[in-house]
Amino acid sequence: MDMSGEEDCIFCKIVRGEIPASVVFEDEQCMAFMDIFPVGQGHCLLIPKEHHTNMLDVDLGLAAHLGRRLAELTRAVHKTFSPDGVLNVVANGPGAGQEVPHLHIHIIPRNHGADFGFRFPEGYRDSMAPRDELDRLAASIRKNIPR
Ligand code: AMP
Ligand code: ZN
Repeated sequence: MDMSGEEDCIFCKIVRGEIPASVVFEDEQCMAFMDIFPVGQGHCLLIPKEHHTNMLDVDLGLAAHLGRRLAELTRAVHKTFSPDGVLNVVANGPGAGQEVPHLHIHIIPRNHGADFGFRFPEGYRDSMAPRDELDRLAASIRKNIPR
C-alpha cells in the first residue's frame, strides 16, 4: 500500500466522507461514485477504499474483488443508459494519463461517433508486426507473470 499523500488524497477524502460525492454504491472494500467532470452522461469511477496508487501496487485479492464489482457496475451503467458501448479505462501512472494517484477505474458510456474514446494513431494498421517479434514479446511478458 502506498501511504504517501493519503492524507491529502482526494479520493481518500471521499472515502472518509470529508468531501462530497454522488455515491453509486459501496461495500467494505470499494466504492463507486459519479465523475465530477463527466465526459458523457453516466461516467462514474470505481475505487478501492484503501489507498493504492494504481494497478501496479494494488493488493491482488482486492484487484479480484474490484474486477467483479467492475463487471456488475458496467452492466448496471449499460442497463441504465443503453449506450452503444461502455468504456472501462484505467490509467496506471502519469505516463498513461493518470492524474489522481489513487487507483480508479473509469466506467464511461459511449455512443457511436462520440468525440472521445481510446484512439489508435492514424495508419497504425498499415503493417502487421512480425510473428517472431510478437512471440518474443509474449515470452518476455510471460516471464514476469506469477505462476
Ligand atoms: P485520471 O485522469 O484517470 O486520473 O482521472 C481522474 C478523474 O477523477 C477525472 O475524470 C476527474 O474528473 C475525476 N475527479 C477528480 N476529482 C473528483 C471528485 N472530487 N469527484 C469525482 N470525480 C473527480
Ligand atoms: Zn487515496
